[in-house]
Amino acid sequence: MKLNFKMSELIYSKTALKNQIYNMPRLDELDNLLELIINVLQPIRDQFKSEVIINSGYRNQKLNTLVKGAKNSQHLKGQAADFTVKNHTIEEVIDWIKENLVFDQLINEYDKWIHVSYNSRGINRKEVLYLKTKK
Ligand SMILES: [Zn+2]
Repeated sequence: MKLNFKMSELIYSKTALKNQIYNMPRLDELDNLLELIINVLQPIRDQFKSEVIINSGYRNQKLNTLVKGAKNSQHLKGQAADFTVKNHTIEEVIDWIKENLVFDQLINEYDKWIHVSYNSRGINRKEVLYLKTKK
């Protein structure tokens, strides 16, 4: 497999920049990000041959609090990313991931983006969730 993901895609955050938060992972968190790329994100990019746009990857404590992430969010460990794939629907991408990849959690978040996580240090539950906007 040829990797064409950059670590910076998973660390960069507009919100962090704007708020002068130094959103830099530790070494173990970098390892987790790399595992997420190898096992999940790169296969998706290769499959759809389309732009995979990462909205949020690694988040340190400060950034996670600011974006109102879950307290025990896998983003904090570098184990999760939120993304969309250009020219492909969320459902289409989720269906393919479900059938073809190992992952911990796969979440359709309000039909706006996909949250996916990979746990290189434990069990991957292959849990699929669907979050809907409150009405
Ligand atoms: Zn997420």
